[in-house]
Amino acid sequence: MIARVVVDVAARQTDRPFDYLVPEEAEAWIGIGSRVAVPFGGRTVQGFVVGFAREAEVEPGRLKPIGELLDPTPPLRPDLIELARWMADTYGCTWTAAMQAMIPAALKGKAERMVGLAAGRDKAEPADGLSEELVAYLARYGPVKLDSLLERFPGEARAISGALRSGVLAESARVRDRLSVKKVLTVFPPEDREAALEAVGALPPRLEKQRRALMHMLERSAPAPLRRLAEETGLSEAVFRSLADKGLLRIEAVEEDRDPYAGRRFAATGPFRLTDAQAAALGRIAEVLASGRTAAVLLQGVTGSGKTEVYLQAIERCVAIGRQAIVLVPEISLTPQMVERFKGRFGSDVAVMHSRLSAGERYDEWRKVRDGRVRVAIGARSAVFAPFERIGLIIIDEEHESSYKQEESPKYHARDVAVRRAGQHGAVVVLGSATPSLESFAAARLTPAAAAREDGGPAVRISPGAALRSAEWLPLPERALGNPLPPVHIVDMREELAAGNRTMFSRRLREALTQRLARGEQTVLLLNRRGYSTFVMCRSCGYTAGCPHCEISLTYHQRSGVLRCHYCGHAERQPEQCPSCGSPHIRYFGTGTERVEEELTRAFPGIRVIRMDVDTTGTKGAHEKLLSAFGRREADVLLGTQMVAKGLDFPLVTLVGVIAADTSLHLPDFRAAERTFQLITQVAGRAGRHDLPGEVVVQTYAPDHYAIRAAQRHDYIGFVREELRVRRMLFYPPYCRLALATLSHPERPKLAVAAETFAAALRSAAAEAGVLAPLAGNAEPALELVGPAASPIPRLKDRYRWQVMIKYRGIVNAAGLIRQAADALAADRSGADVQISVDVDPQMIL
Ligand code: ADP
Ligand code: ZN
Ligand code: ZN
Repeated sequence: MIARVVVDVAARQTDRPFDYLVPEEAEAWIGIGSRVAVPFGGRTVQGFVVGFAREAEVEPGRLKPIGELLDPTPPLRPDLIELARWMADTYGCTWTAAMQAMIPAALKGKAERMVGLAAGRDKAEPADGLSEELVAYLARYGPVKLDSLLERFPGEARAISGALRSGVLAESARVRDRLSVKKVLTVFPPEDREAALEAVGALPPRLEKQRRALMHMLERSAPAPLRRLAEETGLSEAVFRSLADKGLLRIEAVEEDRDPYAGRRFAATGPFRLTDAQAAALGRIAEVLASGRTAAVLLQGVTGSGKTEVYLQAIERCVAIGRQAIVLVPEISLTPQMVERFKGRFGSDVAVMHSRLSAGERYDEWRKVRDGRVRVAIGARSAVFAPFERIGLIIIDEEHESSYKQEESPKYHARDVAVRRAGQHGAVVVLGSATPSLESFAAARLTPAAAAREDGGPAVRISPGAALRSAEWLPLPERALGNPLPPVHIVDMREELAAGNRTMFSRRLREALTQRLARGEQTVLLLNRRGYSTFVMCRSCGYTAGCPHCEISLTYHQRSGVLRCHYCGHAERQPEQCPSCGSPHIRYFGTGTERVEEELTRAFPGIRVIRMDVDTTGTKGAHEKLLSAFGRREADVLLGTQMVAKGLDFPLVTLVGVIAADTSLHLPDFRAAERTFQLITQVAGRAGRHDLPGEVVVQTYAPDHYAIRAAQRHDYIGFVREELRVRRMLFYPPYCRLALATLSHPERPKLAVAAETFAAALRSAAAEAGVLAPLAGNAEPALELVGPAASPIPRLKDRYRWQVMIKYRGIVNAAGLIRQAADALAADRSGADVQISVDVDPQMIL
């Protein structure tokens, strides 16, 4: 048997299957998706089996056997192998990178070079140039990692390599998992109860403790960890061990599941009686689910409309027909309440795939899915790869969130991957949001004719994404508990200034906050910038503090007294005088969350504030701790970046304040208005969700902007109508698709030349493919190039950056064209050391 193996070598040239011979003894348990160690170009590397063949494509003489099967069961399934291939074609990554993204980090091994004494050479002669110490070390420990050997005997590198050449030492390679399963000593109840009971009677009185231990095990039906048994019974572990020595009990090291939620109780929540809108939506989802058709639905429900309840009941239907469900949430550590509700309803039938878990914990949760021990998986975007066998439902909560796009390779969008995966399984994709992305909204609402009507122009086709084509629209227009959406007040900060208020709190917000403090109610404050101030300038000479590695101004963090680059992590001491002119007059502009916290404590003496941003949530479990402290009313104000806007449901929150709505409005990104509208709407939805009525205060310098006006009226459709007009006029998604190629190089002139070469190659590749045509005029396929031009962040981590954007509609292989142009550049002299990164359907144009 021949296995076709894609090796884990990060190079495009080798990103295809290679043939290997499967040794007979492995035939029984190798499968598509198996991970193997194989010889490749003189090394041992890891690879995935993607198929089998009867005959090899290489001559039999050159065929090498597979080295080692790395897992008893294949970690990937055939459908995932195929999905990875699609991702490689769609997003321009390698097949192997896509497959690696699908398995837990714990499984990703690298080959290690091992060195030991050659066979029959237990005592090397000193003449070999190796120290006695080194030889003794190897004789004692056997083959050890080459790296650690060199580290331990740093003076002997040359001698070691000589000994390797002369055959005194032997080298071997080992592909090792980064982690092994945690094992615990577990005691099994006696298998033969009769015999055990007899033994109890036969134990002499002085062995009273052993008798008690054995009786205890007879009463238990399930195995239990030795340590816990000792605690439970008050007997020592040695007592159980003596019974095992006598053969009366069995003690074994057993793989343990590190269930991070073990020992925590979740309030069980029964299914609610659905509102009419919920029932209608659930009915439709269940209908499609039962039909076995693949379909996407857009569940658009205002904040508090009970989308989660629809998800929960849809999942009940799904598992009832013997299929499995995946739930994607934007950032799971931000949504502990969501996890609690799923745990509460489905208990141990849920695997939680959580980026803040340790690699081992994540691996354990993943194994529950692979081994079929759970039927529901909830997690952030990579949970879309949960290795279920027969998926019925994939739910994407807050589907508009940009975190569904992975920003490093493979740069996939989980929404499109979900739609594609659903297609493989005949599953339903539920996209849930109060403020759907324009792509999803267009897929649900805009036929070509409707698209034309929306803005009065000629029919323009929409291009919602790599896989999403159409969706059924299921609206939940009202809150489930019947309470109204909170009123939103817009405050023009220019008027505050004119009225002599120079603080960051408008009179309206100050007053509203004072009331909340007096009434013992809670407030959520949003400012989408962390740090103390975002801009540091010398008043004497105008010098501004910038990152030496990036073209970005440094942010001042007061508590740590440093200036920090939020893009590369560079940090330096806060200057006492201007580095340029020596003047002591340094000023700090631009407000961040740290400064708001300081101002709050100054303006409202005694106020209790919890700040939640990247700086306060670095450690494991920090989010949950801060949120549960807020839930226990240990603070009056929850202040933070967009982290506080998501999914929170606290009954006492009656006021939401947005300190500066403009921070996201003026970013150089065509989605700036959409992001601003979504953020205000989301955070506003935290107010007045239960019995107490809520209100929202939005501070801005652009009170007339349509995104802010529409957010004030809770008017999604109104916003979308405006925004679609802009997108159509400027040709942006959903009226076309984008692909972004970013080129970088340490030297600007070289980069400029390379970017021109690249763009020219791209243009001719597009022309050759017959797709180069203006987008205007409704031709299809059509493709336009924008650029080359300097990126919005022109320098990052000591590399200059230029970009070329492709805008296209119709059937266009954007990733393939970019690859062709990249190959052309690589073959050109100007291409030396130029890095090219490809982003298909980019969510950020930086
Ligand atoms: P969303 O996810 O749409 O913001 P949630 O699912 O959080 O809304 O629901 C808002 C609140 O309404 C929650 O407290 C939830 O328990 C409650 N709820 C949802 N559906 C119902 C229902 N049918 N009957 C009673 N309460 C409901
Ligand atoms: Zn100066
Ligand atoms: Zn930097």
